[in-house]
Amino acid sequence: MIKYNLKCDNKHEFESWFSESKEFDRLKNKNLIECIYCQSKKVDKSIMAPRIVNSKVKNKQKQVSDLEIKNFKKDLLKLRRFVENNFEYVEHNFAKKVREVYYDKKGKKNIYGTTTDEEKEELREEGIDLVNIPWVDKEN
Ligand SMILES: [Zn+2]
Repeated sequence: MIKYNLKCDNKHEFESWFSESKEFDRLKNKNLIECIYCQSKKVDKSIMAPRIVNSKVKNKQKQVSDLEIKNFKKDLLKLRRFVENNFEYVEHNFAKKVREVYYDKKGKKNIYGTTTDEEKEELREEGIDLVNIPWVDKEN
């Protein structure tokens, strides 16, 4: 999904979502894009789209569509299943276990579990980098 700021020949500006960048040109060629205010078909992509390209506002929350969220959740669920199938769950012993794995070079294995922020910080100082995985509910 891509969002464009659009502008008609009467200088009305509005936003619209397209499935991909080519979609805009395709619809425009078919005269299917019109201004939401005056129905003019002379609509173009506005060059003013600072909200998307300006890195200074990168941290501001971008508008995401429901579909994007749904797809994202689906990916996270896939990730969760992958971890569950391939990693050994060590529950709250994670910090201890991860050290065992880390310092015992022969016994590399995949584990997952939970840590406190404190434990994580300690591990980081020891050079053990952890990956945080957003854990999504299987329901919903
Ligand atoms: Zn207009």
